[in-house]
Amino acid sequence: MTHVPARRVVIVGVPWDEHSSYLRGAATAPDAIRKAFRSPASNLTTESGRDLDHEPALSDAGNLDLPHGAAAADAIERAIRLHLEAGRFVIALGGDHAVSYPLVRAHRGLHGPLTIVHFDAHPDLYDEFEGDRLSHACPFARIMEEGLAARLVQVGIRTMTAHQRTQAIRFGVDVIEMRRWRPEVPLDVEGPVYVSLDLDVLDPAFAPGVSHHEPGGASVRDVLTALHHLPGPIVGADIVELNPVRDPSGVTAVVAAKFVKEIADRMLGN
Ligand code: MN
Ligand code: MN
Repeated sequence: MTHVPARRVVIVGVPWDEHSSYLRGAATAPDAIRKAFRSPASNLTTESGRDLDHEPALSDAGNLDLPHGAAAADAIERAIRLHLEAGRFVIALGGDHAVSYPLVRAHRGLHGPLTIVHFDAHPDLYDEFEGDRLSHACPFARIMEEGLAARLVQVGIRTMTAHQRTQAIRFGVDVIEMRRWRPEVPLDVEGPVYVSLDLDVLDPAFAPGVSHHEPGGASVRDVLTALHHLPGPIVGADIVELNPVRDPSGVTAVVAAKFVKEIADRMLGN
């Protein structure tokens, strides 16, 4: 008898960085993460012992072919929605953090009230940034004003401006600032959970390959501990803001690939 897994997970690259505010480059991240994921320098067994190399429930759909300009967000939402409607959970590889707005939109109405757990140095709650309401500094303002999440829990924040503090209060965001975060304490959330993981939540010592270096951040282990202890189910995820231009050693891509493995494991049922 063949075992038919209840859950299927697909990796989708979202090569979109037109709304980066400081440096472009994140659009080339999906292929860098894949290369690290498949690198013979490591293996595809997760920390729980699941061999993702022989896991029929995990697939890779490659990168989205996106139009330039305003049509890209709609194209992302439509393409992801097709995966979700086919019963697959999506791990999206950004791109900059602007990808999260169309990604979360695609999940609307599919799983009941969604809790977003957002790891980041930055709250990304600007109403607009440098005149751009779709900026990678704004996705969680868009998500919350559209009511796409029942709850937004932000973890690792250490750049909270006065404007964004006002926005966090306005939207009822639970902000766990880096200086108060205890990764070993499970987050007080209920599923279904969408995980949005901006790699700059990590200290630049662990993940130099991001556009916005923000010292005083998390270790890779801190984030893994939080993911392992996160009450689930995890029904969607994005890993964003790797900028390969800033990652000559490739170590940040390896870190991103590690998060892909461990999030896939949680999605598949751990
Ligand atoms: Mn971000
Ligand atoms: Mn950030």
